[in-house]
Parts: sequence; structure tokens; C-alpha cells
Amino acid sequence: MVTNPIHVVGAGLSGSIIGRKLAEAGYRVIVTDSRSHIGGNCHTERDSETGVMTHCYGPHIFHTDDEEVWKYVNSFAQFLPYKNRVKTTSVDAYGAEGVFSLPLNLHTINQFFRKTLSPNEAKEFITQELADTTISEPTTFEEQALKFMGNELYEAFFKGYTIKQWGCEPKDLPASILKRLPIRFNYDDNYFFHKFQGMPEHGYSNMIAKILDHPNIELRLGTFFSRSQSGKYAHVFYSGAIDGWFDYELGRLGYRTLDFERFKVDGDFQGCAVMNYGDLNVAYTRITEHKYFSPWEQHDASVCYKEFSRAAEPEDIPYYPIRQVNEKALLSNYVDIANTSDGVTFVGRLGTYRYLDMDVTIREALDTADHFLNCMRSSKKMPAFFKSPL
Ligand code: UDP
Repeated sequence: MVTNPIHVVGAGLSGSIIGRKLAEAGYRVIVTDSRSHIGGNCHTERDSETGVMTHCYGPHIFHTDDEEVWKYVNSFAQFLPYKNRVKTTSVDAYGAEGVFSLPLNLHTINQFFRKTLSPNEAKEFITQELADTTISEPTTFEEQALKFMGNELYEAFFKGYTIKQWGCEPKDLPASILKRLPIRFNYDDNYFFHKFQGMPEHGYSNMIAKILDHPNIELRLGTFFSRSQSGKYAHVFYSGAIDGWFDYELGRLGYRTLDFERFKVDGDFQGCAVMNYGDLNVAYTRITEHKYFSPWEQHDASVCYKEFSRAAEPEDIPYYPIRQVNEKALLSNYVDIANTSDGVTFVGRLGTYRYLDMDVTIREALDTADHFLNCMRSSKKMPAFFKSPL
């Protein structure tokens, strides 16, 4: 067993879970985070004015098919039933504003076209009258949309929203972003397909505090880590931004960041957790009403966040990796130098510059820690990446 501690940079999901597994295996682990709270962008806290549990960096809804991951999170927090049912405000095929159901389902199609189609009729209507059949292998977001829903639904629900969200034209984005969302020819409006879905009863930060609560873990918040300190540690797991580790020496990777405009109302504001706005002329992408993320709680007042997306500046909190052609080329150069570095492994959304759901982040963190333990047992070198960012 090595004597120097392991250093984990970042007290979000990746860092906390890796730290916990190594602590359980007998390592001394120091977890640092430059922010004053744990949880990274999943951080939750009670709103001081209303007492509502708030997703401080935007909505995080847990969903997975991975039973082991589900059991893992449930061993640190009680997850209560929560189904994500998103609504969107847009304009229908006749030019009238309305509230529609997401993800695109039979209700959305019938509402939008003012029809009463059955599942088979809707399928036929979309495939024969709306879908662009000239696209065989969609590679861009726009092609994916035009092939599977046609222009009218795309323009109403996806085009404006995506331009606001990503700051570029959907034809410059990969099809994979839209593939996150299903199209259903029934009235199922559950945003996700996954078998296990829920929300931690007392919020994500409470769960992560329990993960970090181990005698072998020392947590230091408000603490910056610099690469020059690495030599003191048996290994560093770094969940910060990969370009930051290298002091941005090759340039900065692009991110979208979010601004939230908080407001409070008495009673209810919108009657659901998430209301999207498809119209490009509405500056924000969505409004979240946080008390609906904890439907088992009662609150007289309500706190809402209007969410605005923009390009991240150096001092902003990074949210979504952009991963367009330029970023991918730069990322590839960072990966090359990272692969020549010893004693550090890059993990998580920022460390590997990928758009990751929470369950995938957790799965990778568990596997990364296992891989490290195997490497130590067999005196092998732990690689810079357990999961390639490319
Ligand atoms: N999207 C859209 N309209 C919506 C919701 C989503 O155009 O009403 C697009 C948008 O480009 C978004 C992508 O679909 O980035 C994936 O949506 P998801 O809800 O998974 O986004 P996230 O919750 O990760 O922000």
C-alpha cells in the first residue's frame, strides 16, 4: 500500500465516488474543490426565502438502466419517485401560441396539427407527409430532426431552442444531441425511457456529503489545486477542465454556460418543473419551478429560475462542452499531451470534455476507481484516461 495520499480534484459526482471507493480500499484521500460547496453542478440547497430544495445549477433528474448504479446511489440517499414531464411553449401549425407536451409524442402531434390521429395514423402522417425522406444517414442535429419529424415540428420545438441553447445553427451540431430525445407515437410523456428514475429525497448535495463521509477522506473546499502540487501524491484524479490542468497552454476549449434569473411567487407559477420555450424571440430557454422537483414536499411559495445560455467566458462556470470541429481538434491535442503525463487521470464531464448524464458519470467513476485498484495490485501504470474523450 502506498503511503502518499491520493488527491482528488473536484467534489462533484466523479470525484466523490472515486474518492469514496479508494478510501474504502484503505487509501488516504484528499478531495479538494475550488468552490465553497460540494456536488459540482448537481449541487442542491434549500432556497433561503421559500425553503424549496433548489437545483442551483439547473435541473438534474436521475434516470438509468444501470441497476448497479441505481443501487449505489440508493445506498447513500433515499430516492423518491420522480418522472420528468416537460412542457414547452411554442406556436402551433396554425400560428397560435400554446403549451405542448414533450418529448415529441402523440399528444404533441395532435395538439400541434389540431388532429385526432391514432398512433398508426400519426406515424404515417409524419413519415409520408412531414419527414424528409431524402436524408438517409443524418449526421447533423438538423438532418436528424428533418428526417424524423419534418420541418414544422422542428422549427416549432427544436430549432429556436437549440440556437439559444448552443449559440449556433443546428446544422453545425451533431445528430447525437437530438438523439437524446425520443419521438413517441403514443401518449407517454415521460422524458426518459429508463427503468430507474427518481430524485434524492434531500437533494444531491446531501447524497454526495454522505459519499464523502469516510474517515479516510479529508475534504477541503474553497481550495485551488495546481499541477505543480502533484508530486506530493500517489496519484491525482482530476475532474476539473482538462485545458485548465495545462494552464490553457494550447488555447481554451469552448463551453456553454448558464445564467439564472431567480424569482419568487406566492402559490404556483407554471404548474410543472420545466417549461421550455421553443421561440427564438424569447431570450431564455426554459423556466424551472423547483418545488416540482420534490413533489412530496409542500410549500406555499415557489422559487423559479429563468435559464439563459451563452458562451462561457474564462471566469464563468462551464456547463456544456461544445465539441464542434475546432474544439475536437484542440481536445485531441490536449489528449496527446495528457497521455504523456504521469500520475494523473482525467475524469468526468470536464476532465474528459463530454456531455455526460449523471448515471454515466457514476458508472465511469466506479469503473475508474476499480481500474486504479487493479493497476495498483498488478503494478501497472494508471492511464491518463479510463474513458477516452475523443
Ligand atoms: N431541445 C430542443 N427543444 C427542447 C428541448 C431540447 O431543441 O424543448 C434540444 C436542445 O438542443 C438540447 C437537446 O435537445 O440541447 C437535448 O435535450 P435535453 O433535454 O437532453 O437537454 P439538457 O437537459 O441536457 O439541457
